[in-house]
Amino acid sequence: MKYQCFLIKYAEIGIKGKNRYMFEDALIRQMKFAVKEAGDFIIWKESGRIFLKGAEGCDFDQDEVIEALKRVFGISHICPMVMHDSKEYDDVVKAVIDYWNDCYGEQALTFKAVVRRADKRFPMSSMPFAAQLGHELLQVYKNIKVDVHTPDVMLNVEIRDKVYIYSEEIMGPGGMPVGTNGKAMLLLSGGIDSPVAGYMIAKRGVRLDATYFHAPPYTSERAKEKVVELARLVARYSGPIDLHVINFTDIQMAIYEKCPHEELTIIMRRYMMQMAENIAKNNNGLALITGESLGQVASQTIQSLSVTNEVCTLPVFRPCIGLDKQEIVEISEKIGTFETSILPYEDCCTIFVAKHPVTKPNLNVIKKSERKLEGVIEELLERAYATDEVIHIR
Ligand code: ATP
Ligand code: MG
Repeated sequence: MKYQCFLIKYAEIGIKGKNRYMFEDALIRQMKFAVKEAGDFIIWKESGRIFLKGAEGCDFDQDEVIEALKRVFGISHICPMVMHDSKEYDDVVKAVIDYWNDCYGEQALTFKAVVRRADKRFPMSSMPFAAQLGHELLQVYKNIKVDVHTPDVMLNVEIRDKVYIYSEEIMGPGGMPVGTNGKAMLLLSGGIDSPVAGYMIAKRGVRLDATYFHAPPYTSERAKEKVVELARLVARYSGPIDLHVINFTDIQMAIYEKCPHEELTIIMRRYMMQMAENIAKNNNGLALITGESLGQVASQTIQSLSVTNEVCTLPVFRPCIGLDKQEIVEISEKIGTFETSILPYEDCCTIFVAKHPVTKPNLNVIKKSERKLEGVIEELLERAYATDEVIHIR
């Protein structure tokens, strides 16, 4: 079956009233971004619905378009449609009969015909026309029956500028269109959790930037490339991401030399959060996002999280906080980041990890250890900010 056009349905909860156009415009913008590789498309809104069709002469692969649309947050359903120019009664009936043949052939099914008549010049009103179409189908296909309550097939015919026919509804990802809910800074490492965290927050309509701290030569160029690739995979859902790559080596070395080793991770994480927050604030970021999950490692106990959190003034979103590792893995497999996340390149936290990191750090103790960095850390932070390499993921 060759479809020429798609009807895009979106969940309407929370978007009624005067914000609706913003929601729709953001959805259209994200759809354009998502399908741009698949061809040249026209996307338009009409009476509270969104449509997409190939531009003149654009021969697209419909599966590729559907796959792309399945990554656009805000879409609840994707309905592939066939399109006919003629609105003459006989032509519409023929189109519907052909459509049924192509989709369902001689299968024994129940159906209900639904007509929407946006073009009021069309001579028959919706209900009698739907009944008439049902009658015509029953004449041709002997194995089908009408069931108006729970039909196997909901056959939709829309009379607009042209005649559109559809019966299939493919699930979209749900959520809110990216761009309707501000922007946040994702702390993106090469692991499994942070790409999932970015995906989950983008799903609520939040645009993403990302920060990655690397520690050359302790972390390799390949480890960085892996993070760039993860950002690219997340951007398939979130849209463009500015990835800030910060050289963290000297800060890490200073902490390693001056602070108790069992506190290394926690102190390092406090500097990471602080730096990510400043980069976020300079780029209109309104929150931070991490892949932390309660109890997963020593730095993710409640006590550790609260000591880390203490340096932040922006809200910190930790969408994986209540998920088990297996649940996070399942999401990463679903969104296609898992295979990249498990590539075995060292990340900057694993090089300097202590044998017995503190699991219940005390804020005052940690602050006292950090005082040993006074006099050097200020300049090291300046220098680290200056290494900011921005990679535009598009
Ligand atoms: P992940 O699987 O996301 O790497 P993790 O289980 O390895 O997480 P940690 O290494 O403790 O956990 O990191 C917790 C969170 O801190 C990460 O999810 C990420 O948001 C952030 N983070 C850790 N290392 C880095 C880094 N090098 N650059 C940027 N953010 C980082
Ligand atoms: Mg990690």
